[in-house]
Amino acid sequence: MTSAQTSAHPLVAANGLTKRFAAPRRLSDMFSGQRPHVYAVDGIDLCIGKGESVGLLGESGCGKTTTGRLLLKLTEPSAGSIAFDGVAIDTLKGDDLTAFRKRAQLVFQNPFDALNPRFTIERVLAEPLVNTGVERASHRDKVEKALAQVRLPPLSRFEGLFPHQLSGGQLQRIVLARALVLEPDFIVADEPVSMLDVSVRAGVLNVMREVRATLGLAALYISHDLALVRYVCSTTLVMYLGKIVEQGPTADLLKTPLHPYTRALVNAVPVPRVDQSHAALPIIGNVSDARGQPRGCRFRDRCPMAVARCAAEEPLLRDLGQGRRVACHLA
Ligand code: SF4
Repeated sequence: MTSAQTSAHPLVAANGLTKRFAAPRRLSDMFSGQRPHVYAVDGIDLCIGKGESVGLLGESGCGKTTTGRLLLKLTEPSAGSIAFDGVAIDTLKGDDLTAFRKRAQLVFQNPFDALNPRFTIERVLAEPLVNTGVERASHRDKVEKALAQVRLPPLSRFEGLFPHQLSGGQLQRIVLARALVLEPDFIVADEPVSMLDVSVRAGVLNVMREVRATLGLAALYISHDLALVRYVCSTTLVMYLGKIVEQGPTADLLKTPLHPYTRALVNAVPVPRVDQSHAALPIIGNVSDARGQPRGCRFRDRCPMAVARCAAEEPLLRDLGQGRRVACHLA
């Protein structure tokens, strides 16, 4: 449970959030007449408080990015609900939807997904203001303010420059400034530094942490990188095949991971280890088939601790107190 889950008014609250996609049919599906689905996100609950930074950790394909897109209404859920500042977002339209778009922003992993290469830096920064109908007279001030927040020089230094003329670190700061220009309350940062050289990652992460703290922004950081969530997130959720399998205060979760999957992730970090107090627990095998809603624990094919019960009964996310929750029969 995140700290906000005990709060009466979380900024973002998702309940039973589910997103399924049609999967390609196999021969066996033709005989059974069933339409197969992949459950990218399978009935998760999630709360993020005002100003809270939450990490969503897991391997590629576990549903992290889909979760982020659902929270920003960039894709619609198959089931479940999302409330933003107490208002259900599924029916937002017109001016209400525009107001939501201003308050909830995505920071892209790849700057070239966010920045039109044919636009100058000035134009890419002003584009969200134009798209949301912000008064033109205020654009320059808002852009200058966002550039200062991400510790980039004033706009005059980017006069006539295009995205390909900037370094990777500068571009990622431009992407962040582009999200901040609308003065949002919530950002989803999807692998925000994974495309950057190690040498510039720390600088961009510092800026992100500083901006979030100064502006009191709530943030969901989607990552497979434990170092990132340890550095910027107060709370971390661990996701596996569409389910949250563990959550808790980041420092506690990384120091004493309780779910075998989290333990394996922590143990996979090169030395110096996050913590040495738990026994090493390697993941075996590959990620299981995500089609359908499998019976039992969906980590069991890879879990070195699996017992018979794990195949028969799905472990629920249990509250262990002090913000810790885990979905494992043996934890
Ligand atoms: Fe492993 Fe069983 Fe726990 Fe799943 S419920 S993580 S299979 S021990």
